[in-house]
Amino acid sequence: MGEALRTIGILGGTFDPIHYGHLRPAEEVREALDLAELRLIPARVPPHRARPRVGPEQRAELVRQAVAGHPAMRVDERELHRVGPSYTVDTLAELRRELGAVSLCLIVGYDTFLGLPGWSRWRELLAAAHIIVTERPGVRAPLPEALAAEYAARRCDDPAVLRRVPAGRIYRQSVTPVALSATGIRQALAQGRSVRYLMPEPVRRAITEQGLYGYPQL
Ligand code: ATP
Repeated sequence: MGEALRTIGILGGTFDPIHYGHLRPAEEVREALDLAELRLIPARVPPHRARPRVGPEQRAELVRQAVAGHPAMRVDERELHRVGPSYTVDTLAELRRELGAVSLCLIVGYDTFLGLPGWSRWRELLAAAHIIVTERPGVRAPLPEALAAEYAARRCDDPAVLRRVPAGRIYRQSVTPVALSATGIRQALAQGRSVRYLMPEPVRRAITEQGLYGYPQL
């Protein structure tokens, strides 16, 4: 097999709001796979989820604040500017056209991975990117049949292989479990409870100062 490719990580999500359950696993994947860059891509209208309560620009701004100062992480706003629903398969195809011969690694938590067969043209995803699956605390369901077959065919246990081929493998990365969910954080905020140390401090401050998620403004 050929030379090592530049390896780029992609983490999509609603980030409603961003928290350490997104950031710490992403940082560990970045380090383990030696990613040159990790792009966080906030979804505008996630096709398979209920509409988020805080606007897309606001969620993206919180993500920007969360990764400010990180040398390799950055926010990619392409889905915010797209008209109509954003499908990951389209985003990956677009990135592939722009970036050319790189290794693209789509990072997903296990809960998201389980739902993959419900995504638009999900098998095509693997033509454009590798999938990196991290644990999601509390989620242990077995893989649905179609996904188990795909995993068996595409499973990769050697990160060096991910750097040599541009797409098509499925790799499981073990990460420090961070049992946080945006849902739990929104509930805490709506009840005026503390969310300190669950997310970067600038994100917490922006949320409380702007009274987002029903947090009582001081
Ligand atoms: P909600 O609680 O509203 O469902 P979420 O945090 O699960 O929010 P997203 O913001 O869309 O949802 O998640 C983006 C990605 O981050 C997904 O791939 C998800 O699996 C992963 N993720 C979210 N929280 C964690 C966590 N605590 N540990 C590992 N992965 C996570």
